[in-house]
Amino acid sequence: MTQFWIDAFPWDIDAEGIEPALTRLRGELGVDEVRLLALGDEMCYLRQRFVGDDPRRMVQRDAVAHFRPQAGFYKATRLRPTAGGWMKARDPLAKICATARELGLRCSARIECLSNAALARKHEMAACVNVFGDVSDRRLCPANPDVREYVGGVAEDLVESHGATTIEMGAIGFGPFFNMTDGLGHGEDALTEDLLRWCFCSACRQAATDADIDIDTVEKQVRDRIDAGGRQRRRSKPIDDASSESELVAFQQHRGRVVQKLIDLVRARIGERLTVPLDTWSRAHCIPKAAAELRFVNWERIESWRKVHDLYGIDMPGVEGEHAVRFDAMPPACADGPALVSRVHEAVEAGFAQIGFYCDGLMPTVSFDWVRQAVRYGRREG
Ligand SMILES: [Zn+2]
Repeated sequence: MTQFWIDAFPWDIDAEGIEPALTRLRGELGVDEVRLLALGDEMCYLRQRFVGDDPRRMVQRDAVAHFRPQAGFYKATRLRPTAGGWMKARDPLAKICATARELGLRCSARIECLSNAALARKHEMAACVNVFGDVSDRRLCPANPDVREYVGGVAEDLVESHGATTIEMGAIGFGPFFNMTDGLGHGEDALTEDLLRWCFCSACRQAATDADIDIDTVEKQVRDRIDAGGRQRRRSKPIDDASSESELVAFQQHRGRVVQKLIDLVRARIGERLTVPLDTWSRAHCIPKAAAELRFVNWERIESWRKVHDLYGIDMPGVEGEHAVRFDAMPPACADGPALVSRVHEAVEAGFAQIGFYCDGLMPTVSFDWVRQAVRYGRREG
């Protein structure tokens, strides 16, 4: 039986009134779960509708926790999530989870693990460093023990003291160091883009040395490849197992193991409550073991089954039970109701266990009808 969820922002649920908002999502849209952004990077967006008695159209948020962190979960790390000012002295997320349970709705949390401008600026020692020595102003490094403990603490805090049923762990890889595209403004190729995300912070250098990788050689080869890409203006693929420089291949595989170690740490803390999205930003294809166990696809960013198969080696359709897929339920990614119904139909046919819609707080009112129709038709088929 396919389950449906909708993404939401906790400040919207709080502004609308927790019980009326959850009743609307459960009763009108028919979803089984609400998934709340619990830890996010800086963001700013234009609301498509007024929410509750909140008169603002433009919403801005700092890189903060949208829950009240409990100090006990962060004893082993120097990094602490800061509680967002919008909550004042309250903890709406815990209340939303509790109310959801009473209404028969699951309540899960989404965390953007390593993309956090506030923490990267405050703790330079925990931030990624590119091959030229530039310290990232937004990306935390998964090789750093403080960062791993911090992410594990957030996941455990949300499950143990806030009642989240599942934690979606986004931004877990070596993503963009400076902004979402990391572009230099003149269309550098995929190889350069990838190499600019290779981290050479002290934790990465130490971990590589411990793994018998000659980090100085890697560093030189990475610089050379970036410089060559700039001169030749040719398009090259990212480093993979078939690349000729063995030291680069070894380091790339090592980077995958670093991310895997972070996933393993969180899984040890919260077990099967963890779900890891497979998206092009997290570069999950660099995580050999994780790629096989990831159960989550962002459809719009992947675009086709074929690409999923090529990138991740996961056979689709006909995937085994537990996979999930998320759809943007609003323009321009989704044109109208029939388009969403058709996509959901395809996903149900393909055997996806969970289907999600992005996102309550961003959708114009018309999208609610689309989601309602898609869930109704999806339930008939699933
Ligand atoms: Zn690093």
